[in-house]
Amino acid sequence: MTAHALPRATLLFLSRRQRLKGAALKLRPLRELARRFVAGETWEDAVDTARALAEQGLRASVDHLNEAVRSEAEAHEEVVEYKRLLRRIDESGVKAHVSLKLTQCGLLLSPALALANAREVVAEATARDSFVRVDMEHAAVTQVTLDIVRALRAESGETHVGAVLQSALRRTEADARALCAEGVRIRLCKGAYLERSDVAFPDKADVDANFVRCMRVLLDSGVRHGIATHDERMIDATRAHAEARGLPKDAFEFQMLLGIRRDLQLALALEGHPVRVYVPYGRAWYPYLMRRLAERPANLRFLWHQLWRG
Ligand SMILES: Cc1cc2nc3c(=O)[nH]c(=O)nc-3n(C[C@H](O)[C@H](O)[C@H](O)COP(=O)(O)OP(=O)(O)OC[C@H]3O[C@@H](n4cnc5c(N)ncnc54)[C@H](O)[C@@H]3O)c2cc1C
Repeated sequence: MTAHALPRATLLFLSRRQRLKGAALKLRPLRELARRFVAGETWEDAVDTARALAEQGLRASVDHLNEAVRSEAEAHEEVVEYKRLLRRIDESGVKAHVSLKLTQCGLLLSPALALANAREVVAEATARDSFVRVDMEHAAVTQVTLDIVRALRAESGETHVGAVLQSALRRTEADARALCAEGVRIRLCKGAYLERSDVAFPDKADVDANFVRCMRVLLDSGVRHGIATHDERMIDATRAHAEARGLPKDAFEFQMLLGIRRDLQLALALEGHPVRVYVPYGRAWYPYLMRRLAERPANLRFLWHQLWRG
């Protein structure tokens, strides 16, 4: 385990502890840090953020934060929230997509429930000519998530729903080839979850090398994908491959998270690359924030300093 891996493992463990969440939400420094990564608590905050991004030439994919819901009623509330969000985005005139987690739709209760709920969200997106990106969660749900994306695509005419793949997983290159052959739009990211070494590469160098391999598969497929990273080496490799293949800048888009590398987001947009920013909002920001803290030791040092100062 590397020096970075221990706090990462601890934070990812804490992100799943429901009881700690209540106490953590009361910590002012944590709430302040959340403001950097989260648009706010309401759909109005998210739409305002998407509009502000659009004014700077950046696109948005809006995510209502809530995951691992534990009741049918809660999952239904998420459907209601997403349908309203899609309606409000459409009415606002801002061109933004949405990102959705299947555990938010009740996947931990049953795949059939998650499919039925996600179907309603995709139907609303289809009616409004929008797009639903189904986020990828931990490796235990990779296969069922891809199965549901395929089912949703078959029902919705294929253009309104897409998948996410994580280069941390050993299976991802094969998934990328299969999904590209089916014309599925993919967001490629490194992966934010701690996984067992039989399913995921334990070393960051292997995750990065796999990212580059999968990025090439995606760019060569002729389908319009999202390359989601803040890692300048991954971005440079993507630009180099696109140039070598003679691809136009809008053959794919770069994607980044709200509050991370704004300088890079704007620089790429100025160069003429489409850039989409992931805009999370909602009250359930705790697990999302823990994953962002886990990604970078400097975030932890900042938090520790703030807590120490009281
Ligand atoms: C648009 C988008 C959607 C995503 N969707 C998913 C998903 O569905 N499923 C999933 O598992 N993961 C998702 N992720 C998260 C992703 O898997 C990574 O955990 C995250 O993007 C960090 O990896 P990186 O590629 O930026 O590279 P890293 O090597 O982690 O980071 C490269 C550099 O980026 C900056 N950086 C990265 N993270 C942070 C941070 N938290 N705070 C401050 N600076 C940072 C630092 O400068 C760092 O040196 C998504 C990421 C993006 C950008």
